[in-house]
Amino acid sequence: MMFQLTTASLLREACFIDGTWVAADDGRTLAVADPATGATIARVPLCGATETARAIAAADHALGPWRTTSAAERSLILKRWFELMMAHQEDLARLLTAEQGKPLAEARGEIAYAASFLEWFAEEGKRVCGEVIPSPFPATRIVVTREPVGVCAAITPWNFPAAMITRKVGPALAAGCTMVLKPAEQTPLSALALAALAEQAGVPTGVFNVVTGDPVAIGGALTSSPVVRKLTFTGSTEIGRLLMRQCAPTIKKLSLELGGNAPFIVFDDADLDAAVAGAIISKYRNAGQTCVCTNRILVQDAVYGAFAEKLARAVADLTMGNGFEEGVTQGPLIDGEAVAKVKELVADAVAHGAKVAVGGEAPGGNWYAPSILLDVTPQMRLAREEIFGPVAPLLRFADEDEAIRIANDTEYGLAAYFYARDIGRVWRVSSRLDYGMVGINTGVISTSVAPFGGVKQSGLGREGSSHGIEEYLEIKYLAMGGI
Ligand code: ADP
Repeated sequence: MMFQLTTASLLREACFIDGTWVAADDGRTLAVADPATGATIARVPLCGATETARAIAAADHALGPWRTTSAAERSLILKRWFELMMAHQEDLARLLTAEQGKPLAEARGEIAYAASFLEWFAEEGKRVCGEVIPSPFPATRIVVTREPVGVCAAITPWNFPAAMITRKVGPALAAGCTMVLKPAEQTPLSALALAALAEQAGVPTGVFNVVTGDPVAIGGALTSSPVVRKLTFTGSTEIGRLLMRQCAPTIKKLSLELGGNAPFIVFDDADLDAAVAGAIISKYRNAGQTCVCTNRILVQDAVYGAFAEKLARAVADLTMGNGFEEGVTQGPLIDGEAVAKVKELVADAVAHGAKVAVGGEAPGGNWYAPSILLDVTPQMRLAREEIFGPVAPLLRFADEDEAIRIANDTEYGLAAYFYARDIGRVWRVSSRLDYGMVGINTGVISTSVAPFGGVKQSGLGREGSSHGIEEYLEIKYLAMGGI
């Protein structure tokens, strides 16, 4: 199924550097495939270090004028960009489904969610205030200002091709920073469409640049440049670690949104129907390919059987297929490697005694059937590694202490979820979970107005909310004497 756009100019096959649409210096390109069909839907430039260096120089050149533009003016430009995204929501959603595979309804939701970061930070940018501290010395004043960090680099993943970009570029531009973005090689079209709308919204030349191509070459150029003062990255913990190391020689500021291993705990006092609804959304959204997706479902002994049965019934209602088809809730995984990883984790669990209750098969292409595995133990790879696929492993626990112990026994600390009614338990468990975000009686936590981020090896910093803009600001202290 080919996708069609109302505004054909949103499909760009060129990079956006210094306000111009350019090819790679050597003309090489990279194919973009539809994960549902395997068909090539576009080709984008296969750029490397030299094109990236030009983008960094452009962002550096643009920084002076942009940071001195009034916050109100920057806000207006971001607001226009937000409005353009919403005006083109359907086209942007179609591009997104075509290159990423998620159902069109989810893609529309992602575009609205992505746009909301531009709107939110257009507003927050106007509230970057300073402070005056009473001085202990006569005839002096202590003034504190907050200033843009400078040129920022962003590296984003394929699972949210639009939202992972706006929640970085929104606060960066609102704060007065400029940016060079490298989107994931699987999903560059959404990034380029956003750049086309940024240009239309009046984002000045060089303020926002998009370079597609070789991750190692582009990443190397971004991280080694002394001009780039900050790297903001969303992706795997493994690559996050590597990039952090690469940023060490130039002591860059870092925001890292890395992997997760989200527990979803169902206590014996939970509303089971609500817990099933929450589990479905937090596990199977985007076919399980989000960093806050439930990775392990821990169910208390007394309700284990009842919960498993209800969940199986709900999973039977999920419909797998091409994301463009009406009624489809489960698209393909991003590529063959993703399918192979899920198969491997399920096979390992089964070999160690887990039972497939629902699904457990890969019907071909990039699809994996929505699945439930019972009798999973905390030692199995399925419970320790990020699955990034539509498989729900069910584990058992006896009491609150055991649930907390299993939940926290991971190097990750991004999102956790639990269902309980007892108010004492709700407070106790909330405070004992070593996670940056906790969903309590809800499977939905992401919104531009709340601080998103993890602890432990899930990352550094927060995105969204009023905290999100702090990541793009430096504090400057002015000691004013002779007054
Ligand atoms: P995933 O496993 O979800 O693809 P990755 O961490 O591999 O997550 O990818 C997230 C982003 O990091 C993508 O934009 C990818 O191109 C980029 N990336 C991967 N490897 C490197 C690297 N060595 N240097 C810079 N960027 C990289």
